[in-house]
Amino acid sequence: MERLNLIQFYQKFGTEEQCQTFLLQNRWADGVTCPKCGKIDVKTYKLANGRIKCASCRNTFTVRTRSIFEASPVPLQKWFLALYLCGSYKKGISSMQLSKYLGITQKTAWFMLQRIRYIFENDSFEMSHSNRLVF
Ligand SMILES: [Zn+2]
Repeated sequence: MERLNLIQFYQKFGTEEQCQTFLLQNRWADGVTCPKCGKIDVKTYKLANGRIKCASCRNTFTVRTRSIFEASPVPLQKWFLALYLCGSYKKGISSMQLSKYLGITQKTAWFMLQRIRYIFENDSFEMSHSNRLVF
């Protein structure tokens, strides 16, 4: 993520929809890839609640499926702000600090920090099959 100031960050990632669009374009720059059948730039249908249906295998998924954000109830807005903060505090941010910034429990913040470390180490939002994280 490019270095933005806080105002620029909020203009770009202020809504859940903006965050979803960013993630979609970042993960699937060559067109949506179905996590199940693996087809690249597959024809999709938009369903409610951000769900996407693959026209090829009829599997439904979201932009979070198989990403580091999978199966997390935390809105992408908070995830992205957490990423921003982690990139801002070069010496690291504690789960206590992060929980206060985001209005989440310290336990949730701790889990997020584990996953964010994974993103920074792998420079990717993708969760690999072989190294699947279980939280
Ligand atoms: Zn498919």
